[in-house]
Amino acid sequence: MWNISEVALQLPTSSASNRLLQPVWDHLYHQHYSRVSSPFFPVLLAFSSYFIFSVPFALLDVLGEKAPLFKYKIQKERRPTVGMMLRTLGTAVYNHLVFVLPAVLITNVVMPAPPLPAVAPTVWELLSGGLGALLVFDAQYFFWHMVHHKNPHLYRWVHAIHHDYISPFSWSTQHLSGVELMTVGFWSNLDPILLKCHPLTVWTITVFSIWMSVEDHIGYDLPYSPSHLVPFGLLGGAMAHDMHHQKPSSNFAPFFSHWDRLFGTAVTVKRTHKSDEEQ
Ligand SMILES: [Zn+2]
Ligand SMILES: [Zn+2]
Repeated sequence: MWNISEVALQLPTSSASNRLLQPVWDHLYHQHYSRVSSPFFPVLLAFSSYFIFSVPFALLDVLGEKAPLFKYKIQKERRPTVGMMLRTLGTAVYNHLVFVLPAVLITNVVMPAPPLPAVAPTVWELLSGGLGALLVFDAQYFFWHMVHHKNPHLYRWVHAIHHDYISPFSWSTQHLSGVELMTVGFWSNLDPILLKCHPLTVWTITVFSIWMSVEDHIGYDLPYSPSHLVPFGLLGGAMAHDMHHQKPSSNFAPFFSHWDRLFGTAVTVKRTHKSDEEQ
């Protein structure tokens, strides 16, 4: 017969072992603890995601008309030069060296992160926390973005650099002022803390949100992109954000479409390889 102390010792272990993500988490926890608990790990994850997701579309841009996916290019007449690609990648590297890394160092001294938990999140916790953080960030950026387009001073000093290019391309995703990158980074760190997300959820959100941000800027309206797969036009995607760079008073939200629909700022266009007409 079990006594109370045996039950108390066994319950967390048995519930942890039932978690689908526990083997993944165990591997990270036991084999790579010092790496993944480093304050620089989230930065490395974010920057490498931006880099890896951007490279394939940079290659497509270099190939130009010879690329098999060129028919999906949204603004075929405006293609990025290698110089433009290097300049925007340079902005991202500069911002990380000058703003992000010092901010991480200071945060680590002032407010060091707690030790990693031994138990993985459930799949439900990962999905609900991830979706929640994306929805909160989407709302924050929508209002911040709209205010920065309505106020000429804020626009000029903070957001204008992101609009250097009417036709976005993958590297231009992080062609941002230091203030904008730090604001976005602040919310990206704060929101999962407020939602009590597990570190594995936080890292998943980081990779997923950067993928969606790069997808916004690739300049190709690919048929199997999330914005076409998710029903009812719930996601904005490349077409919506490309339109924001062409008509900056439209499509302020980064991921979803509901805020732009509510505020009457949503502008949609038909797929370019069929028609360039606005709906
Ligand atoms: Zn943009
Ligand atoms: Zn803008």
